[in-house]
Order: sequence, then C-alpha cells, then structure tokens
Amino acid sequence: MLKVENISVHYGMIEAVKNVSFEVKAGEIVSLIGANGAGKTTILRTISGLVRPSQGRIQFEGKPIEKLVPQKIVASGLAQVPEGRHVFSGLSVMENLEMGAYLVKDKKKISETLEMIFDRFPILAERKNQDASTLSGGEQQMLAMGRALMSQPKLLLLDEPSMGLAPIFIQEIFNIIQEIKKQGTTVLLIEQNAKIALSIADRGYVLETGNVVLKGSGKELLASDEVQKAYLGG
Ligand code: ATP
Repeated sequence: MLKVENISVHYGMIEAVKNVSFEVKAGEIVSLIGANGAGKTTILRTISGLVRPSQGRIQFEGKPIEKLVPQKIVASGLAQVPEGRHVFSGLSVMENLEMGAYLVKDKKKISETLEMIFDRFPILAERKNQDASTLSGGEQQMLAMGRALMSQPKLLLLDEPSMGLAPIFIQEIFNIIQEIKKQGTTVLLIEQNAKIALSIADRGYVLETGNVVLKGSGKELLASDEVQKAYLGG
C-alpha cells in the first residue's frame, strides 16, 4: 500500500533521514521505532507532503506521491495524527471532528462516520460540545485520532500516540489502534515506546540517526538482543 524507497531528507546541512526504505502492506500495523531525533517525525512529515525529500520515491497504492501537496495526499486516502495532538482550541470536540471531514462532500457519509467515531470513542460523544482544549491528554489523543478518521483514510499515520500519557491511557489508545486495524484501516505507527509499539505491530523497523538499522516482525524485534538492550533496558 505504501512504499518508501531510498528517501533522504535534509534540513539545510543536516541530513535527518538517510536513504530510508520500508513498506506497509494493506491491513498491517507497521511500527517505526527509534530514540529522540532518529528521524521518525521527519519521515511521517515527508510521507504527508509537509517536507520534501532530497532524493527517493514514495508510492501510495502504486502512485507516486512525493511531489503532491498535502491536500492531494489526504484526498488519496492517507491521514496523519501529528505528535502532540494539535487539536483546535476554541472549537468544540464536534467542530474539531468536522474539520477532519473537510474534503468529504457527502453529508450523509459525514454523519455516518461521526456515528462510528462516537461508537469507538464514547468519551468524545459525551464531550462533544466541550472546548477541545479542556480535554485531558488522553482524550485529546482520541480526538486527534477521531479527527483523522473522519476523512475515512485507507492508511492512518500516528506520530507518538503514547507521548505524555499515563500507562492506563496508553493501553486504551493502543487497544483502539488494534480495533482500527480490525475494521480495515492500515496503520503506520511512529513510537519511542518500543515495547508497546512492537507488541501490536505486524512488522517493525528500528531507526537510528536517520538510518534503518533493523527490521522484522513485531515479535522478532521485541525478542532481539539489540532492541532489548537499546530500548527495553534488557
Ligand atoms: P522525536 O521523537 O524527538 O520527535 P524524531 O525521531 O521524530 O524525534 P525528527 O523530529 O524527525 O526525529 O528529527 C530528526 C533530526 O532532524 C533531529 O536531529 C532534529 O534536530 C532535526 N530536525 C527536525 N526538524 C528540523 C527542522 N525543522 N530544522 C532543522 N533540523 C530539524
């Protein structure tokens, strides 16, 4: 579904991503893990068209997307939940969700998707008229995920959904990610929390200073000495 081939990304003189390749197949959860500054966010921003690669190709469902503007990329079926959530404060929960459907013209489809999201995140239904900025961190993460799902993406990109959340919320968010997969949405997950990200991943890639240094199934990576030593304190 998504094929990233040999991309490099520069910020001025800094090469933040170096010749990285990976792929995500339809129906999978794929996790990219790595420490602070490994280049994870840069890769996601490159896929969604917010940053341009200095070399390489990105294909989504067989079509090149590395030169498209972000709106076109979203319209092709890809949605990103940014790091730190970025919900719109001053707007209600409902209005935030509606913003996620700005490319969807069909009103009936919008209300059906909204129903589905309220089913999956009952707390958002309860809080639908509340200002988004008054939600807790975990609730804001749910809202950001719900907002991305409003465009009914085929591929959901999640940037550090566990960041700043209490363990109980992390578990809940990761249960929801598995539900999202079961309902047919493919997921690319970027995480520093290697343990939980690999435990739900079909496959994973380990990034270090802009390079892919290891890849394998979620299980294999969790069990590998390198991952145990570098990320799990083992
Ligand atoms: P984190 O988990 O801390 O967000 P990350 O793995 O997502 O880390 P990136 O945010 O992609 O890493 O950053 C990769 C490298 O690129 C870092 O060295 C960072 O300082 C640098 N970088 C990121 N954004 C910019 C920018 N706008 N200008 C210059 N350098 C940047």
